[in-house]
Amino acid sequence: MTATAAYRGRFAPSPTGPLHFGSLVTALGSYLEARSRGGEWLVRIDDIDPAREQPGAADAILHTLARLGLEPDGPVVYQSRRLDAHHAAIAELVEHGRAFACSCTRKMVLRQGRPGPNGVIYPGTCRNGLPPGHEARTWRARGEGTVRFRDGLQGPVQWDLAETTGDFLIRRADGWPAYHLAAAVDDIASGITHVVRGHDLLACTPPQIRIMQYLGAEPPAYAHLPLAVNADGRKLSKQNLAAPLDDDAPGAALLAALAFLRQEPPGELAGAPPAELLAWAVAHWDASLLQGVTAAASPVG
Ligand code: GLU
Repeated sequence: MTATAAYRGRFAPSPTGPLHFGSLVTALGSYLEARSRGGEWLVRIDDIDPAREQPGAADAILHTLARLGLEPDGPVVYQSRRLDAHHAAIAELVEHGRAFACSCTRKMVLRQGRPGPNGVIYPGTCRNGLPPGHEARTWRARGEGTVRFRDGLQGPVQWDLAETTGDFLIRRADGWPAYHLAAAVDDIASGITHVVRGHDLLACTPPQIRIMQYLGAEPPAYAHLPLAVNADGRKLSKQNLAAPLDDDAPGAALLAALAFLRQEPPGELAGAPPAELLAWAVAHWDASLLQGVTAAASPVG
C-alpha cells in the first residue's frame, strides 16, 4: 500500500452475517472499479454495533473473500479498533459547533419529528442546548446546507440536508459512534479516494460528505451500484435471510455476480478458477453498462 494513492477503493461489510450475493456484488464492483483503474482496494470490517453482530461473521466474510480471490492491498481495518479516532472527531465537531449533545429518546424523536424521505427528521429539540435538567444521551451533527456531488453511476445528486436528513446521529445512546461518523472518519483516515457501494446507501452519502467537510477533509468520489433485490423487490440482506455464498463454488458465485453487473465473460470461462475470472473481469470491466441502474433482480434468493 502506498501512502497516497491516486485511486484507493474499499469494501466495508458489517459483520452481521456471512457474505451473500448482494454483498458479493458490492465487493466485486468496488474491486473491479479499483483494479481496472490501477488502483488499490482495501477491506474494512464495520464492527461498531455489537448488538447486531454475529459471532464469527467477520472471519467468515474474510474467508469467503479469500476463496473468491478478492485479496485486499493492505491490512484489514476493524472499526472497533478505531474508537479513539471516532470519539476525537465527535469532540472536534462539538467544539466547532457542528454537533451537539441531545437528550431525546428515539421514541420522542419519532413522536415529535416530521416525516422525511429517509425516515423521521429530528425536531431540533436540543440543537440550541440541552433543556434544563436533561442529560446527554446521544450526539448529533447539524444537518444543514446543500450537499452536491456527481455520482459516478447515478449522475448529479443534490440534497438539502435540513429537508431530507435533519440533524443526524454521530454517537448513539449506547456510547458507540454512529455509522455516518465512523464511515466518514475511517474513509478519510484510510485515504479512500473512491467509494463504490450499493444504491441503498446513496442516502448516506450526503451526511457522510457533510461530516468530512466539517472536519476539513476532501470527500472521496462516490458511485452507487444497482442493488440486488429479491422477488418482492426487497434488498437481499442478512435480515431477510439471503443465502450465504457457497465457499466451495467461488467461480460460480463470481460468474453470477459478473452477470448481475452486466459483464459478459466468454463461455470458455465457465468453470475457470477465480483468479482467471477476475483477470478477465479487470481487463474488460465496463461500468458504463450500469449507468442509472438502481436495482436489479438477484439470480439467487
Ligand atoms: N457497513 C455498511 C454495510 O454493510 C456499508 C458501509 C459503506 O460501504 O460505507 O451496509
